[in-house]
Amino acid sequence: MPDMKTYHGQCHCGAVRYTATTDLSSLGDCNCSRCRRLGWVMQSVPASDFTLESGEANLSVYHFSTETIDHLFCKTCGIESFSRGSDGKGNELVMISVNCLEPPVPVDRNGIKHWDGANW
Ligand SMILES: [Zn+2]
Repeated sequence: MPDMKTYHGQCHCGAVRYTATTDLSSLGDCNCSRCRRLGWVMQSVPASDFTLESGEANLSVYHFSTETIDHLFCKTCGIESFSRGSDGKGNELVMISVNCLEPPVPVDRNGIKHWDGANW
């Protein structure tokens, strides 16, 4: 198992900044109508392992489909660096975009699990 580490993530302009503690061991992408446009690679972390350091007031929220996920993007630069939702069992989760981590982390594209969000 990879080590748990605390990573720093942010939107493009830096207004939205967060830290998340994760081992980055379950990277996923998704083919739903939104994710395929964004091309993002996500890692889900328990909400308790995520801290929004700045930018709450600079976030816009977008809902679609089941409207259960808060797609949050920066009002200034438009980048969605994370989203918030739950696992359906009452556990709050944050999906971080590993492409928004700073410094950048190497992403093993062969290790990405593909979520069939288009047919969910
Ligand atoms: Zn921004």
